[in-house]
Amino acid sequence: EAKARGEGGYERYRPGMEARGAERSRRAAALQTAILEDQLVVFYQPVVTLPDGRITGAEALVRWQHPVDGLLGPNAFIDTAEQTGLIIPLGTWVLRAATHEAATWPGDHTVSVNVSARQLREVGFSAVVAEALHDSGLPPRRLTVEITESVAVGGGATHDNLSDLRAMGVRLSLDDFGTGASTLTLLASCPVNQIKLDRSFVGDGGQDAIADAVAQMARAFGMQAVAEGIETAEQATRMARLGYDRAQGFYFARPMNSVHFRDRLTTADTDVPVTSA
Ligand code: C2E
Ligand code: MG
Ligand code: MG
Ligand code: MG
Repeated sequence: EAKARGEGGYERYRPGMEARGAERSRRAAALQTAILEDQLVVFYQPVVTLPDGRITGAEALVRWQHPVDGLLGPNAFIDTAEQTGLIIPLGTWVLRAATHEAATWPGDHTVSVNVSARQLREVGFSAVVAEALHDSGLPPRRLTVEITESVAVGGGATHDNLSDLRAMGVRLSLDDFGTGASTLTLLASCPVNQIKLDRSFVGDGGQDAIADAVAQMARAFGMQAVAEGIETAEQATRMARLGYDRAQGFYFARPMNSVHFRDRLTTADTDVPVTSA
């Protein structure tokens, strides 16, 4: 997208551009309707302990139940939301839905909510979080806000929002760790409670030196280390051995609707233990 823009951020004219512009505003209007008419749904993917595979909580992942196209994943609409600013109402909606849902879970299970850099720049974002916690009754320590390295660019109210969240007792997690350019810069200026190693480093063992170094760094900083995108027993065992204490991935469970997730929590025998860790 950035590449297509000329100097000053304006797109240079190309034939067919009007059609694309029209398509973009049509998608934006549809997304706005989706937010207003409750077509969005939150799915929950279990986060488990390593090596015993016990569920400690879930990551909230937004879906769009589109009236014509069916269930759409975030890759189909998050970019549009970011570009149009609709990520602000969308993000608030997800935050409120996820905190209200998690407040009804048994035990002290946690919920992780993805927050974009755009939301964090907004003055009053931390107040939106405080209100969601207050209205739902969810204790702040049971909410984790997932940020990405793009937050390091900062600007706007980013710094104030992050320090407000920390002061409230909300936990912070650094998502997709290792894929951004400014990881260490961000860690230096913004301590987080958790880092989630990007799934591109889980693979078949070829990246274990990096996975190992990240786990050691997490330990040194007193951060929890989560391995994302675990698809096989072998990967789970390897990540457990490297020192990851939490995991997420299709091997344990796919993202599921709130009813199915609640069933998983109330059924005792669904843990997926990792063998020979
Ligand atoms: P993410 O935060 O890194 O979330 C993890 C993504 O990896 C999810 O994709 C999940 O379904 C997928 N995943 C989990 N386990 C596995 C696995 O074992 N293998 C593979 N191949 N994939 C796995 P999803 O739900 O499509 O979400 C994609 C991204 O969209 C998220 O990445 C996050 O960056 C963004 N996103 C999702 N919900 C929200 C939201 O409410 N707000 C914002 N701002 N972004 C969101
Ligand atoms: Mg995430
Ligand atoms: Mg991730
Ligand atoms: Mg991601």
